[in-house]
Amino acid sequence: MAQRTLSIVKPDAVRKGFTGAILAEIEKAGFRIGAIKKQSISKEQAQGFYQVHAGKPFFDGLTTFMSSGPLVLMVLEKENAIADLRKLMGATNPANAEEGTIRKRFAGSVQENAIHGSDAEDTAAFEIGYWFAGYELI
Ligand code: GDP
Repeated sequence: MAQRTLSIVKPDAVRKGFTGAILAEIEKAGFRIGAIKKQSISKEQAQGFYQVHAGKPFFDGLTTFMSSGPLVLMVLEKENAIADLRKLMGATNPANAEEGTIRKRFAGSVQENAIHGSDAEDTAAFEIGYWFAGYELI
């Protein structure tokens, strides 16, 4: 059974023109793009999305960054999608990311790290529902 995960090409990667290259890596790894949209988000929308990080020292910088320009929101489908995407993304800090991962290749810093992927089934369900309406996922 295919599993769904929420992914975001973050504003740094969109700005640098890496969207297509990142999507190619994702498809090459066997994910199906179930839904996709490019949009800008407000700081309040970013705060709602990252509410688990509210209170952390990087929360304000992170939500300012995520609302600094267009990003690409995606629902990805594949068997074991959540864990497999995390592996393809690499470590949060690109300095610690393995060779061949998206963050190693495309991320500039621990904050501006090119891509988001849900980290568990419950967060994937919350994150997909946060950005996509049911009719967009048919
Ligand atoms: P992820 O699941 O690998 O995206 O990492 P987290 O859920 O821990 O953090 C969410 C996002 O916050 C990361 O992708 C980074 O953009 C940012 N972030 C995490 N840790 C730090 C940090 O120590 N400093 C800064 N500036 N940003 C961070």
